Amino acid sequence: MKTLIQSQRDFFNSNQTKSIDFRIAQLLKLRKLLQANEQILNEAIYADFQKSAFDTYTNELSILYAEIDESVRKIKNWASRKRVTTNLVNLPAKSYIVPEPLGVCLIIGAWNYPYQLSFGPAIAAIAAGNTVVLKPSELPIRTSQVMAKMINENFDPAFFKVVEGSIPETNALLAERFDKIFFTGSVAVGKIVYQAAAKYLTPVTLELGGKSPAIITDAANLKLHVKRIIWAKFINAGQTCIAPDYILLPKSLEQEFLTLAKAEIAQEHFAVANDNYVQIINTKNVQRLANLLDPAKVYCGGGFNEQTRVFEPTIMQQVSFDDKIMQEEIFGPILPVITYENLDEAISEIKKREKPLSCYVFTSSTTLKNKIINELSFGSGAINECIMQITNSNMPFGGVGESGIGAYHGEFGFKTFSHFKSMLEK
Ligand code: NAD
Repeated sequence: MKTLIQSQRDFFNSNQTKSIDFRIAQLLKLRKLLQANEQILNEAIYADFQKSAFDTYTNELSILYAEIDESVRKIKNWASRKRVTTNLVNLPAKSYIVPEPLGVCLIIGAWNYPYQLSFGPAIAAIAAGNTVVLKPSELPIRTSQVMAKMINENFDPAFFKVVEGSIPETNALLAERFDKIFFTGSVAVGKIVYQAAAKYLTPVTLELGGKSPAIITDAANLKLHVKRIIWAKFINAGQTCIAPDYILLPKSLEQEFLTLAKAEIAQEHFAVANDNYVQIINTKNVQRLANLLDPAKVYCGGGFNEQTRVFEPTIMQQVSFDDKIMQEEIFGPILPVITYENLDEAISEIKKREKPLSCYVFTSSTTLKNKIINELSFGSGAINECIMQITNSNMPFGGVGESGIGAYHGEFGFKTFSHFKSMLEK
């Protein structure tokens, strides 16, 4: 690790990554490699947790292509000096802000969207002119191997290197000095990373998780809204950081919601016999999810198989905030439904808990929409939609409080991996 990081530091100090042409060339090279290896990438992720080529394209690779294309198009502008007004006391003079790369960056990825969550931050780091050590999650082992082979055979390790491994390798990396650490994963490990970074005052971005509520306030467009909620919850078998974790709705809508949701789940797309129904990442997580179930409250689904790691889309009804399922992020295909008598009560329950990564509001009322946006703190959200906010790179993606520190995507990613140097010139 020491030799690798020193070689990256030497490469960074050679100033080669400062060249915009160099950055663009590396980004285009990565794009070409991803495209050329699409089939291998698809096979690896299917072997790891049965994720289809369609899902891999729509929610991993296409997002990476879009990030690369936008960076290549806008990088000159992002990286340029920005002239600002000079204050009276300094006149005559000029003032400008100079974006500069931070240096050697460590990126630690999560397993649930292994390509997107590993290469997405790497694209931002490269666009900003840094060198990258990437440690993908070891759980989907084949995707980790494919990423390592693809990058390590084609990039100079002094510029971009994939280091495979689990806890010991990650700890060995964290013991070293980096200029930036970007971590995606659980709150518990986020705290370990933050502590390790403190030793050298290394800036960190932590993309973490939490329990993201979906709040329904009225019956308007309920069928369409249920369709969106069910898709967002059960895509990737619920293993999505910004998936709606649980539903909050007025008691009067409970039965209608349950009936519509069950009908939506009955579609072919969510059939567990379907070859493209995503598996739970490992047996340990199947057991963890099974342990969260309360059989008396299962409205539909509830079946699972430890051998095949298939877990049925499951809805739980009459759930209360005290139930086991409400004590941790579910991160799997179980959707608890909680009813409320009045919205203020529901809002105050959410406020008692950690700030969620996302919050979704399904409403026809402008007043209630604004009330929830104003009163609740969360990373990002959507009105009458779920999870799609992540696809708009004109908005920062990240958490707040326990759901994370910092953000990325588009120019926000560039900024996350940059320092902005203020210059006064007399
Ligand atoms: P995780 O925290 O278990 O693992 C993430 C990374 O940390 C992996 O690369 C792993 O090798 C490493 N790691 C694990 N234990 C470690 C330890 N003790 N010391 C050092 N390194 C260690 O998370 P996960 O299971 O891969 O992902 C699930 C979590 O990630 C969920 O909470 C989810 O909400 C969150 N997540 C967040 C985002 C986001 O963008 N905010 C995206 C995906 C997942």
